[in-house]
Amino acid sequence: MSSPARVRFAPSPTGRLHIGGARTALYDYLLARQTGGKFVIRIEDTDRMRFVPGAEAEIYAALSWLGMEWDEGPDIGGPYAPYRQSERTEIYLEHAKMLVDSDHAYYCFCTAERLATVRKEQQARKQAPRYDGLCRRLSPEEALDRKNAGESHVIRFKTPRQGKTTGIDAIRGEITVENASLDDYILLKSDGLPVYHLAAMVDDHLMEITHVLRTSEWLPTFPLHVLIYEAFDWEQPAWVHMSVLLNPSGKGKLSKRHGSGGAHAIYPIELKEAGYMPEAVVNWLALMGWSYDDRTEFFSMSDLIGKFSLAKLNASPAAVNFSKLDHFNGLHIRSLSEEDLASRLVPHFYAAEIEVTVAQLRPIVPLIQERSRTLDEAVEMSGFFFRDAVQPDPQQLIGKNMSPAESAAALARSIEVIQGFDRLDTESLELSLRKLSGDLDLKVGQLFGILRVAVTGQRVSPPLIETMEILGKELVLERLKQATELLESSK
Ligand code: GLU
Repeated sequence: MSSPARVRFAPSPTGRLHIGGARTALYDYLLARQTGGKFVIRIEDTDRMRFVPGAEAEIYAALSWLGMEWDEGPDIGGPYAPYRQSERTEIYLEHAKMLVDSDHAYYCFCTAERLATVRKEQQARKQAPRYDGLCRRLSPEEALDRKNAGESHVIRFKTPRQGKTTGIDAIRGEITVENASLDDYILLKSDGLPVYHLAAMVDDHLMEITHVLRTSEWLPTFPLHVLIYEAFDWEQPAWVHMSVLLNPSGKGKLSKRHGSGGAHAIYPIELKEAGYMPEAVVNWLALMGWSYDDRTEFFSMSDLIGKFSLAKLNASPAAVNFSKLDHFNGLHIRSLSEEDLASRLVPHFYAAEIEVTVAQLRPIVPLIQERSRTLDEAVEMSGFFFRDAVQPDPQQLIGKNMSPAESAAALARSIEVIQGFDRLDTESLELSLRKLSGDLDLKVGQLFGILRVAVTGQRVSPPLIETMEILGKELVLERLKQATELLESSK
């Protein structure tokens, strides 16, 4: 086994946690648990303009729901606290100054107007826009004087002009760039707050992070990050740039368009509300960018902890496939014990304003476990068991290729048959109703179709005969009579 990994999930609270972020957190979590290491949450909230209240709380709620408990974080503390970057600004300032002192960074006093002019000129010359290095040429004494005189400034990284920088990505191998192609990036803004490049590197080092898992969107600035580590003379972590998630069409990065109001839920908390199980979401996310072999698709969290490996992360982006999620949810619903499924269903019944207990749900669980893709679908399919009355659509009470009168007659004969029972048991009820369909010169499907709508109020339901047995003779008769009346009055 590899040595204990310290991994961090470092979201910015600039919006809701979506499935891409949840996937990153999952890989972090798996690596930490697999190696007996630590899973750390760090909130990267130095961009005050884009701060969204409530975002941090949703991150915790989503990760908890998905079953990824963390070992250190802003809410629970830990040996490397604080874990919120807005509470660490002194540390970044101090480190930026260390880089200035070691000649790896410099104060820059250029105004926004000057930078805009430089950019325009570079564009006119068809050059890549980048800082022209005016303040890089200031003597340290002059820079310090201007700074001490209170002139507004930023701190820029003094990117080497010569040579090349090589970083090693765990998925892609060596990545080398010419230093001349890089900019003198800003590390600390004029308000004294750091940008990601400084804050994340400093924190990853101070928090002794061993593996940095983030998406390939960070590849363009990866050389800068390697250079910052080198400038501090720190040991590089393992860098892992995961492929991004694409829209279901495979075109373009997964976007909000597919979120709220869009075609699908892309936020774990919405998936929860829509009746998906956390185990299924985890299974689905794990396979978006990682695979074990070509065959195995069912993974529990403990399977994943055992089997996950960085070596099997995929370099190419994965398109999000929502029908796969339905598929996994069905698999995980079927893998639960009946008791467990019943207790997970309870809140979804409540949400549909049906107050049931686990004990009341137990008998119907076997009927819906095989047929439901989501917990909400299970409620839709079986809510009629607990409602006082059902409201069948009269049109649907008319059997296939039958008239309303023939359908009403079939219902009346079914009532007679059922009245002959003391209590409904599936075997003899099935025999009697099949026989009745023969007597009426109907196909079994025609008769059962009418009875299904009459008894459940819907066209799709758990198996009819078992359903009738559970509902019991009295309730079945009541619903059949009500349906007959409905047919007759709508003639
Ligand atoms: N705060 C960064 C983001 O949300 C974190 C990237 C990283 O994991 O280093 O994109």
